[in-house]
Amino acid sequence: MPLGVGFIVPPWNFPLAICVGLTASAVVTGNTTLVKPASLTPVIAYKFVELAEEAGLPSGVINFIPGDSSVMGDFITGHPLTRFISFTGSKDVGLHINELAGKKVKGQKWIKRVNAEMGGKDGIVVDETADLDAAAESIVSSAFSFQGQKCSAGSRAIIVESIYDKLVEKVVQLTEKLSIGNGEEDYSVGPVIDEKAYNSILKYIEIGKGEATLLLGGNPGSNEGFYINPTILGDADSNSRIMQEEIFGPVLAIAKAKDWEEAIEMYNNTDYGLTGGFFSSDNNRIEQAIERMYCGNLYVNRNCTGALVGIHPFGGFNLSGTDSKAGSYEYIKLFSQGKLYTQKI
Ligand code: NAP
Ligand code: MG
Repeated sequence: MPLGVGFIVPPWNFPLAICVGLTASAVVTGNTTLVKPASLTPVIAYKFVELAEEAGLPSGVINFIPGDSSVMGDFITGHPLTRFISFTGSKDVGLHINELAGKKVKGQKWIKRVNAEMGGKDGIVVDETADLDAAAESIVSSAFSFQGQKCSAGSRAIIVESIYDKLVEKVVQLTEKLSIGNGEEDYSVGPVIDEKAYNSILKYIEIGKGEATLLLGGNPGSNEGFYINPTILGDADSNSRIMQEEIFGPVLAIAKAKDWEEAIEMYNNTDYGLTGGFFSSDNNRIEQAIERMYCGNLYVNRNCTGALVGIHPFGGFNLSGTDSKAGSYEYIKLFSQGKLYTQKI
């Protein structure tokens, strides 16, 4: 059976895909929704709602409520008639919603269900048996596509000592070739989303310069707008802030491990657990990596981004969220409740 009224809260990145995924999964299971788009991307969400209505969805099933989350977010999460919250966004906002939803208020008859998919500090591990050209390409595209503004962005690379210098050189060379400019004109790296993100990313780059060795970038781009040159910081300590905190921008931190096992330990040394990558040609190590790398979505010998709906159910461990595995059949069960009846005849 359906649950009831759901509060749908998507992030600004993937503003159509995530908004549609969160809303449609609630609707196909018979629920009604309040859809609050991110403040930066209300129009694309509006277009989706308009299409849903045009397609014949009865009014009242999707209620579009753009607005300032600091004014209405807590009101709706805390409302006694809100039955569930489907959130995708940052760790701090997800934890706040989860905490607030956990408090029963007057007139509330249920435990609110929260599905919260949050941030990541994803990383790619490379051992000495790996195809280094393939690893370099994957590290660069995982770190810098969409300017690193993806929850799955490979913002860390952890490389075994014996191939560290060689692979880092390849990563830097490939990154130097990325063209920077307006995304509409087919450049590889565009601007970041807004001034707030721009300032926050540049602040992290300054922190990184103090914690690690600047190998590339480290400054704003020369174009007018919120451009930041793809930045690579090497010899990073796995406990440093640039290896621990989600930056959500074009910043790659690289760390050196003595061997593949230490590299996996360093990969796991994070509060997050969304995506990971493992590059090796040793099947025993690959099996071990599948067992030991603690994340919801692990990719072997390929990029750590680009999950395909229906093929790679998506969701993270630890503070990356409730591991709801979006894009799968199991996902939609989260928006329904099972009723059993038995009849004696
Ligand atoms: P965000 O700042 O956490 O915002 C996400 C959504 O929450 C926005 O719609 C925001 O509205 C809303 N919000 C903020 N405070 C709220 C409150 N008190 N009550 C209810 N809603 C509230 O995240 P973002 O900057 O949009 O997106 C980037 C983050 O999302 C990154 O951390 C990224 O890793 C994560 N992400 C995760 C996944 C995944 O599947 N795990 C996928 C994509 C993105 P306003 O815009 O009005 O503040
Ligand atoms: Mg934000």
